[in-house]
Amino acid sequence: RRAKQCPVDKDELGRSTWNLLHTMAAYYPEKPSIDEKKNMESTLTSLSKTYPCSYCADDFRKDLKVHPPKLENRSELSKWMCEMHNRVNEKLGKDIFDCTKVKERWLDGWKDGSCDP
Ligand code: FAD
Repeated sequence: RRAKQCPVDKDELGRSTWNLLHTMAAYYPEKPSIDEKKNMESTLTSLSKTYPCSYCADDFRKDLKVHPPKLENRSELSKWMCEMHNRVNEKLGKDIFDCTKVKERWLDGWKDGSCDP
């Protein structure tokens, strides 16, 4: 019998959101159109206003002002997202992620094959 499901807490919400954000960056076009750039920008801006952890959202909005998203192409956005996440990691005293590994983590899977089906 399955356990009853419960509302998400702040950490589960964070993990789910990072899953979405890094995967969106991993699949962002190599050569985005003006419209694709605008859509990504407004997604991030809107999320920073609607994210359902108010003090997280406050910092997220401040961070976007100081570090506007790099929308030129997939690798720029993926790197920007990694750095954004690292600023949150730093604030929370978590390990800093090596941004040269972002493609393996969020697109290709690890070189040792551990993510292969
Ligand atoms: P997460 O930080 O959720 O990371 C999930 C996975 O992403 C990791 O296991 C790792 O494989 C990978 N990863 C880690 N760092 C990076 C990186 N830099 N680049 C790419 N991949 C990476 N929580 C608070 O308590 N206070 C806040 O103010 C706050 N602000 C947040 C703002 C935003 C925009 C978001 C999305 C979340 C925020 N959170 C905040 C939640 C917090 O970031 C974590 O999601 C939560 O603490 C759970 O952490 P975790 O250790 O499970 O891993």
